[in-house]
Amino acid sequence: MSFPRVGIVGLGLIGGSLAKLIREVFPDTHIVGVSRSQSACTQAIADGVLSSAGTDIRILAKMSLVFVATPIGMIVDTVKCLQEILAPTAIVTDVASVKRDIVEALSASASPRQKEKRSKGLRPLDPVSGKAGSIPGGANGIPGGAGGISGSAVSFPGGAGGGQGAQPLGASTLCDLAEPNHKALFIGGHPMAGKETTGYAASEVQMLIGATYVLMPSLDPRRQSFETYLKNLKFRVVTMSPEDHDEAVALASHGPYVMACLTAGTLLKSPYVDAGKQLISSGFRDTTRVACSPAQWGAAVCLDNADAVLAFLQSVSADMGTLSALITSGDAAALTRYFETIAVQRRGLFPV
Ligand code: NAP
Repeated sequence: MSFPRVGIVGLGLIGGSLAKLIREVFPDTHIVGVSRSQSACTQAIADGVLSSAGTDIRILAKMSLVFVATPIGMIVDTVKCLQEILAPTAIVTDVASVKRDIVEALSASASPRQKEKRSKGLRPLDPVSGKAGSIPGGANGIPGGAGGISGSAVSFPGGAGGGQGAQPLGASTLCDLAEPNHKALFIGGHPMAGKETTGYAASEVQMLIGATYVLMPSLDPRRQSFETYLKNLKFRVVTMSPEDHDEAVALASHGPYVMACLTAGTLLKSPYVDAGKQLISSGFRDTTRVACSPAQWGAAVCLDNADAVLAFLQSVSADMGTLSALITSGDAAALTRYFETIAVQRRGLFPV
């Protein structure tokens, strides 16, 4: 299974890596990139990764499959915009690290409560202030005309709309988002691969080879074609509802990110920071590596997956109470049992 014309919006770490992987596995694919920066377009074409590229999203109108690989806050409006310009037979998918609010917001039937949640959690962050904000010129951060967000921004034709007139989504219809035969099908996805560096320069094929790719369920037969395509790209595809994805990813990714930040932050604010720095070795490096992830990504996942991240923190907080009590009690045998139980189970997570 292959798609002859594939579009990618956002030529960053994930978008660039996907483009490189598709070029490697399906060399004849016509891959078109959309980027805010002309230099990224030029570089990706020079690398032989993209067939063509530009800053205007309308160049993707004839694509049969489009990956949206922008920051989380831009996904919904970009998908809506693409659904306006793509053929009804096309597929549009995203790679965002959170799924529930995105899938709900893109449903033809998001409730007012969901829209309110979305407006709190999914707006793009202002790169200067770090606060959720809007990009001038249009509703939900999308400019009203084809001129784009700014001189260096991706252009959206006619604005992407604000998710008006939506209703709640039943579990059985979850992810069948577009009206059949009227708009391109949206299928939420999340490749479980990445690193702390961002941008096209950091993109690479190796990072994605064999990685798990979480795909939302859908009754539409195009989803099966897309799953087969991902398997051909050497991904291990896992089907999961947006709700289960967000609960699970809080445990597997977002929570560990927060813990890495807390661990690094505790050393950095300690009066013994200078002595501590001299003793840093592989243990500290391994447990805090993801603290170097982009802070804007960290803020976005904590806000857009707030319930699950807060539940993770509450669970950790309760376990800290247990652990503190064990240490205070001086009960070496109980403390050993506590650590041994976790060590055995942790080894089981990555069988040799
Ligand atoms: P990235 O390297 O920063 O790439 C994001 C790209 O989106 C940028 O390079 C930029 O490309 C484009 N973009 C469009 N509008 C933007 C805006 N308003 N502000 C900033 N960039 C904008 O980040 P990434 O790690 O690839 O993340 C992209 C998506 O992948 C996110 O939704 C993230 O949740 C998801 N993801 C990340 C990882 C990870 O470990 N990094 C893993 C799995 C999934 P142009 O400059 O070409 O326009």
